[in-house]
Amino acid sequence: MTTHPSPALIARYADREARLDEVTMWSVELHLDTCSRCRALLAGGTTDDTRALLDRVAAGVDQGIVGGPAPAPRRRLAVLLHRWAAWQLAPWLGMTVAVLGCAVLLGVLAPGLPSLVALLAPVAPLPGVAVAWTRRYDPAWELIAGTPSAGLGMLLRRTAAVLAVVVPALALASGGTGVSLALTLLPCLAFTALSIALGAFVGVRHAAVGIGAAWALAVVTPAVYTAELPVLLQPGSVRGWALLTVVLAGFAATRAGAFRRLSGLN
Ligand SMILES: [Zn+2]
Repeated sequence: MTTHPSPALIARYADREARLDEVTMWSVELHLDTCSRCRALLAGGTTDDTRALLDRVAAGVDQGIVGGPAPAPRRRLAVLLHRWAAWQLAPWLGMTVAVLGCAVLLGVLAPGLPSLVALLAPVAPLPGVAVAWTRRYDPAWELIAGTPSAGLGMLLRRTAAVLAVVVPALALASGGTGVSLALTLLPCLAFTALSIALGAFVGVRHAAVGIGAAWALAVVTPAVYTAELPVLLQPGSVRGWALLTVVLAGFAATRAGAFRRLSGLN
Protein backbone atom coordinates (compact mmCIF):
# COMPACT_ATOMS: atom_id res chain seq x y z
CA MET A 1 0.00 0.00 0.00
CA THR A 2 1.28 3.51 -0.86
CA THR A 3 1.80 5.87 2.01
CA HIS A 4 1.27 9.47 0.95
CA PRO A 5 3.26 12.19 2.69
CA SER A 6 1.05 14.23 5.01
CA PRO A 7 -0.37 17.54 3.73
CA ALA A 8 1.75 19.30 6.34
CA LEU A 9 4.90 17.68 4.94
CA ILE A 10 3.98 18.65 1.37
CA ALA A 11 3.38 22.22 2.52
CA ARG A 12 6.82 22.26 4.13
CA TYR A 13 8.34 20.80 0.94
CA ALA A 14 6.75 23.67 -1.05
CA ASP A 15 7.81 26.31 1.44
CA ARG A 16 11.28 27.62 0.54
CA GLU A 17 11.84 28.84 4.09
CA ALA A 18 11.13 25.50 5.74
CA ARG A 19 14.11 23.30 6.39
CA LEU A 20 13.65 19.65 5.34
CA ASP A 21 16.37 17.06 5.75
CA GLU A 22 17.65 15.61 2.47
CA VAL A 23 16.27 12.11 2.97
CA THR A 24 12.73 13.44 3.54
CA MET A 25 13.07 15.80 0.58
CA TRP A 26 14.14 12.95 -1.73
CA SER A 27 11.41 10.64 -0.55
CA VAL A 28 8.77 13.34 -1.15
CA GLU A 29 10.25 14.12 -4.57
CA LEU A 30 10.28 10.42 -5.52
CA HIS A 31 6.69 10.05 -4.39
CA LEU A 32 5.55 13.15 -6.33
CA ASP A 33 6.93 11.59 -9.50
CA THR A 34 4.38 8.81 -9.36
CA CYS A 35 1.44 10.27 -7.42
CA SER A 36 -0.85 12.71 -9.17
CA ARG A 37 -2.97 13.23 -6.05
CA CYS A 38 -0.03 14.61 -4.09
CA ARG A 39 1.11 16.66 -7.10
CA ALA A 40 -2.33 18.28 -7.12
CA LEU A 41 -2.01 18.93 -3.40
CA LEU A 42 1.40 20.49 -3.99
CA ALA A 43 0.06 22.69 -6.81
CA GLY A 44 -2.81 23.83 -4.59
CA GLY A 45 -0.41 24.74 -1.82
CA THR A 46 1.85 26.81 -4.05
CA THR A 47 2.67 30.13 -2.44
CA ASP A 48 1.95 33.48 -4.09
CA ASP A 49 5.70 33.99 -4.47
CA THR A 50 6.06 30.81 -6.53
CA ARG A 51 3.09 31.68 -8.72
CA ALA A 52 4.53 35.16 -9.34
CA LEU A 53 7.88 33.58 -10.26
CA LEU A 54 6.17 31.19 -12.73
CA ASP A 55 4.25 34.09 -14.29
CA ARG A 56 7.46 36.08 -14.71
CA VAL A 57 9.18 33.14 -16.41
CA ALA A 58 6.20 32.58 -18.76
CA ALA A 59 6.10 36.28 -19.68
CA GLY A 60 9.86 36.22 -20.35
CA VAL A 61 9.52 33.19 -22.65
CA ASP A 62 6.61 34.84 -24.52
CA GLN A 63 8.64 38.03 -24.95
CA GLY A 64 11.63 36.05 -26.23
CA ILE A 65 9.43 34.32 -28.84
CA VAL A 66 7.83 37.59 -30.02
CA GLY A 67 11.14 39.48 -30.12
CA GLY A 68 13.10 36.61 -31.73
CA PRO A 69 14.00 36.34 -35.42
CA ALA A 70 11.10 35.68 -37.81
CA PRO A 71 10.69 32.04 -38.90
CA ALA A 72 12.43 31.16 -42.15
CA PRO A 73 10.08 31.78 -45.12
CA ARG A 74 8.80 28.77 -47.05
CA ARG A 75 10.43 28.82 -50.43
CA ARG A 76 7.65 27.85 -52.78
CA LEU A 77 9.86 26.96 -55.72
CA ALA A 78 12.06 24.68 -53.59
CA VAL A 79 9.00 22.96 -52.11
CA LEU A 80 7.53 22.45 -55.58
CA LEU A 81 10.81 21.08 -56.92
CA HIS A 82 11.20 18.67 -54.02
CA ARG A 83 7.64 17.49 -54.40
CA TRP A 84 7.97 16.66 -58.08
CA ALA A 85 11.60 15.77 -58.62
CA ALA A 86 13.96 13.49 -56.83
CA TRP A 87 17.56 14.37 -57.57
CA GLN A 88 18.65 10.74 -57.56
CA LEU A 89 16.69 10.42 -60.84
CA ALA A 90 18.93 12.91 -62.67
CA PRO A 91 21.84 10.59 -63.61
CA TRP A 92 19.42 7.88 -64.78
CA LEU A 93 17.46 10.31 -66.91
CA GLY A 94 20.72 11.66 -68.34
CA MET A 95 21.72 8.11 -69.26
CA THR A 96 18.33 7.47 -70.90
CA VAL A 97 18.59 10.60 -73.02
CA ALA A 98 22.17 9.70 -74.00
CA VAL A 99 21.11 6.18 -75.04
CA LEU A 100 18.29 7.61 -77.17
CA GLY A 101 20.78 10.02 -78.75
CA CYS A 102 23.02 7.04 -79.62
CA ALA A 103 19.99 5.22 -81.10
CA VAL A 104 19.29 8.19 -83.39
CA LEU A 105 22.96 8.34 -84.38
CA LEU A 106 23.05 4.60 -85.13
CA GLY A 107 19.89 4.96 -87.22
CA VAL A 108 21.68 7.56 -89.34
CA LEU A 109 24.95 5.61 -89.55
CA ALA A 110 23.37 2.20 -90.21
CA PRO A 111 20.14 2.69 -92.20
CA GLY A 112 19.79 -1.09 -92.72
CA LEU A 113 19.02 -1.69 -89.02
CA PRO A 114 15.44 -1.58 -87.72
CA SER A 115 14.70 1.65 -85.86
CA LEU A 116 16.48 1.43 -82.51
CA VAL A 117 14.41 4.39 -81.28
CA ALA A 118 11.20 2.38 -81.77
CA LEU A 119 12.81 -0.68 -80.15
CA LEU A 120 14.05 1.26 -77.14
CA ALA A 121 11.00 3.51 -76.67
CA PRO A 122 8.99 1.07 -74.49
CA VAL A 123 11.86 0.56 -72.05
CA ALA A 124 13.19 4.14 -72.10
CA PRO A 125 11.30 5.27 -68.95
CA LEU A 126 12.06 2.09 -66.98
CA PRO A 127 15.46 3.06 -65.47
CA GLY A 128 13.91 6.25 -64.09
CA VAL A 129 10.79 4.47 -62.86
CA ALA A 130 12.91 1.78 -61.21
CA VAL A 131 14.84 4.39 -59.25
CA ALA A 132 11.78 6.49 -58.41
CA TRP A 133 10.49 4.20 -55.67
CA THR A 134 13.24 2.19 -54.12
CA ARG A 135 14.94 2.60 -50.81
CA ARG A 136 18.30 1.66 -52.28
CA TYR A 137 18.60 4.89 -54.29
CA ASP A 138 16.78 7.26 -51.96
CA PRO A 139 18.89 8.49 -49.05
CA ALA A 140 15.79 10.06 -47.47
CA TRP A 141 13.59 6.97 -47.77
CA GLU A 142 13.10 6.59 -44.03
CA LEU A 143 11.78 10.14 -43.79
CA ILE A 144 9.62 9.72 -46.88
CA ALA A 145 8.19 6.39 -45.77
CA GLY A 146 7.02 8.04 -42.57
CA THR A 147 5.10 10.84 -44.29
CA PRO A 148 1.43 10.68 -45.24
CA SER A 149 2.32 11.66 -48.83
CA ALA A 150 4.29 8.44 -49.36
CA GLY A 151 2.68 5.76 -51.50
CA LEU A 152 1.15 5.63 -54.95
CA GLY A 153 0.78 9.42 -55.12
CA MET A 154 4.48 9.98 -54.68
CA LEU A 155 5.37 7.18 -57.09
CA LEU A 156 3.09 8.75 -59.70
CA ARG A 157 4.58 12.22 -59.15
CA ARG A 158 8.09 10.87 -59.61
CA THR A 159 7.00 8.83 -62.62
CA ALA A 160 5.48 11.99 -64.11
CA ALA A 161 8.84 13.73 -63.58
CA VAL A 162 10.54 10.84 -65.44
CA LEU A 163 8.03 11.05 -68.30
CA ALA A 164 8.43 14.84 -68.48
CA VAL A 165 12.03 14.20 -69.55
CA VAL A 166 11.67 10.93 -71.47
CA VAL A 167 8.59 11.84 -73.57
CA PRO A 168 10.10 15.00 -75.16
CA ALA A 169 13.37 13.11 -75.72
CA LEU A 170 11.45 10.30 -77.47
CA ALA A 171 9.41 12.81 -79.51
CA LEU A 172 12.64 14.47 -80.66
CA ALA A 173 14.27 11.12 -81.43
CA SER A 174 11.25 9.82 -83.37
CA GLY A 175 11.07 13.09 -85.31
CA GLY A 176 14.76 12.71 -86.17
CA THR A 177 14.38 9.15 -87.45
CA GLY A 178 10.91 9.24 -89.00
CA VAL A 179 9.39 6.69 -86.60
CA SER A 180 5.65 7.12 -85.88
CA LEU A 181 5.17 9.26 -82.77
CA ALA A 182 2.22 7.14 -81.55
CA LEU A 183 4.29 3.95 -81.83
CA THR A 184 7.03 5.58 -79.78
CA LEU A 185 4.99 7.19 -77.01
CA LEU A 186 2.19 4.63 -76.50
CA PRO A 187 4.52 1.67 -75.78
CA CYS A 188 6.52 3.98 -73.49
CA LEU A 189 3.37 4.81 -71.49
CA ALA A 190 2.14 1.18 -71.56
CA PHE A 191 5.41 -0.14 -70.13
CA THR A 192 5.43 2.59 -67.48
CA ALA A 193 1.93 1.53 -66.42
CA LEU A 194 2.96 -2.14 -66.59
CA SER A 195 5.94 -1.59 -64.29
CA ILE A 196 3.70 0.16 -61.74
CA ALA A 197 1.01 -2.54 -62.01
CA LEU A 198 3.56 -5.36 -61.58
CA GLY A 199 5.36 -3.27 -58.98
CA ALA A 200 2.35 -3.69 -56.70
CA PHE A 201 3.32 -7.36 -56.41
CA VAL A 202 7.11 -7.58 -56.71
CA GLY A 203 8.30 -4.00 -56.13
CA VAL A 204 8.70 -1.37 -58.85
CA ARG A 205 12.44 -1.89 -59.24
CA HIS A 206 12.15 -5.65 -59.74
CA ALA A 207 9.22 -5.13 -62.12
CA ALA A 208 11.12 -2.56 -64.23
CA VAL A 209 14.28 -4.69 -64.41
CA GLY A 210 12.25 -7.80 -65.33
CA ILE A 211 10.24 -6.06 -68.04
CA GLY A 212 13.37 -4.44 -69.50
CA ALA A 213 15.23 -7.77 -69.60
CA ALA A 214 12.26 -9.62 -71.12
CA TRP A 215 11.81 -6.95 -73.81
CA ALA A 216 15.52 -6.96 -74.67
CA LEU A 217 15.59 -10.77 -74.97
CA ALA A 218 12.24 -11.39 -76.65
CA VAL A 219 11.97 -8.38 -78.97
CA VAL A 220 15.12 -6.25 -79.34
CA THR A 221 17.59 -9.08 -79.91
CA PRO A 222 15.54 -10.92 -82.59
CA ALA A 223 14.71 -7.58 -84.30
CA VAL A 224 18.37 -6.61 -84.55
CA TYR A 225 19.26 -10.17 -85.67
CA THR A 226 16.62 -10.29 -88.43
CA ALA A 227 16.92 -6.55 -89.21
CA GLU A 228 13.12 -6.23 -89.10
CA LEU A 229 10.76 -4.42 -86.75
CA PRO A 230 8.50 -6.91 -84.91
CA VAL A 231 4.72 -6.96 -85.51
CA LEU A 232 4.32 -5.38 -82.07
CA LEU A 233 5.87 -2.17 -83.37
CA GLN A 234 4.19 -2.10 -86.78
CA PRO A 235 1.62 0.70 -87.43
CA GLY A 236 -1.34 -1.73 -87.04
CA SER A 237 -0.61 -2.25 -83.33
CA VAL A 238 -1.28 1.33 -82.19
CA ARG A 239 -4.80 0.51 -80.95
CA GLY A 240 -3.53 -2.47 -79.02
CA TRP A 241 -0.93 -0.33 -77.25
CA ALA A 242 -3.53 2.33 -76.42
CA LEU A 243 -5.92 -0.27 -74.97
CA LEU A 244 -3.11 -1.92 -72.99
CA THR A 245 -2.05 1.46 -71.55
CA VAL A 246 -5.57 2.26 -70.34
CA VAL A 247 -6.16 -1.21 -68.85
CA LEU A 248 -2.79 -1.30 -67.06
CA ALA A 249 -3.13 2.24 -65.71
CA GLY A 250 -6.62 1.42 -64.42
CA PHE A 251 -5.37 -1.76 -62.79
CA ALA A 252 -2.41 0.05 -61.18
CA ALA A 253 -4.82 2.61 -59.72
CA THR A 254 -6.70 -0.16 -57.89
CA ARG A 255 -3.49 -1.35 -56.22
CA ALA A 256 -2.74 1.90 -54.37
CA GLY A 257 -2.55 0.13 -51.01
CA ALA A 258 0.46 -1.89 -52.15
CA PHE A 259 2.64 1.23 -52.37
CA ARG A 260 2.46 2.37 -48.76
CA ARG A 261 6.00 1.11 -48.25
CA LEU A 262 9.08 1.72 -50.35
CA SER A 263 9.68 -1.39 -52.41
CA GLY A 264 12.95 -3.01 -53.31
CA LEU A 265 14.36 -4.18 -50.02
CA ASN A 266 17.93 -4.64 -51.18
ZN1 LIG B 1 0.63 10.62 -2.86
